[in-house]
Amino acid sequence: IVFLVDVAPAGATEPAAGWESTVRRVRADEPIVLGTDLSATRGDGVFETLGVLEGCPQAVDAHFWRLANSAELLELPAPNLEQWRVAMRVAGDALPTDRQGGIKLVLSRGVEGAGRSTGWLIATVADDDFANRTEGWKVVTLDRGYRHDLSEHAPWLLPGAKTLSYAVNMATLREAARRGADNAIYLSSDGFVMEAPQSSVLLRRGDTLITPKTDIGILPGTTQLSVFAIAAQWGLATEDRLVEASELLDSDGLWLLSSVKLATPITQVDGKSITVDRELSDKLNAALLARRE
Ligand code: PLP
Repeated sequence: IVFLVDVAPAGATEPAAGWESTVRRVRADEPIVLGTDLSATRGDGVFETLGVLEGCPQAVDAHFWRLANSAELLELPAPNLEQWRVAMRVAGDALPTDRQGGIKLVLSRGVEGAGRSTGWLIATVADDDFANRTEGWKVVTLDRGYRHDLSEHAPWLLPGAKTLSYAVNMATLREAARRGADNAIYLSSDGFVMEAPQSSVLLRRGDTLITPKTDIGILPGTTQLSVFAIAAQWGLATEDRLVEASELLDSDGLWLLSSVKLATPITQVDGKSITVDRELSDKLNAALLARRE
């Protein structure tokens, strides 16, 4: 289900007919993006993917924070979050309440020379049985090719921005599959754990949940934020810090976290079996599925 958004600049006043009037449901096969749009020709734009439970988009504020941050890093006009909030609700309302789903929000720099952003939403019912949450995944570690301090010395590479240029992330997943794995964890060239192509990394060591700190050229994960909030309620300690590659193998539990798949326990790293904490896995997924905002 696709919605075209007539993108308003941040701070624009709501039209008399409401922000709803700027969101138009289109036929799924209706052409809505010009061939000259910079999202198509250069991957020049940003996006977010939100999980939807009972028609309710999850962690909207955290996704909007990241959207605005990504836009700022790319020097795109700031998104009008009031408008996107309404658009998100319209898209969520179009999804069935008895199925899990997702909404992808795309904000492009727009047609070359037009100086105006284009944007749209794609709402989908998940055609997934989410076996990942119970069966888990095997991962391989792959070199990302840059040091953990990339943000400091090469910010023009846009570390921390969720840009539309995901060809590299998709190629990484194909490489993982070639190596017989379900997914990959990127390591910095100096040996620190970063993230997966579409997920954040979470480890348990004793009573502490650990995630790589986000100033090492990775995305701040909205699911990881939710997990840390849940962990605090359960009395578990949380840490975001540099994580050495060797810690992946001697953790007491390892997961990939993302908005639609939620928490996927990792069963093997580079062909070696690791400790799987199925109990915490099930508890985490149940808590993530119980969220309604
Ligand atoms: N890191 C990368 C590179 C991602 O693409 C994603 C999500 O797509 C994440 C981490 C996890 O983010 P979230 O939990 O907000 O889905």
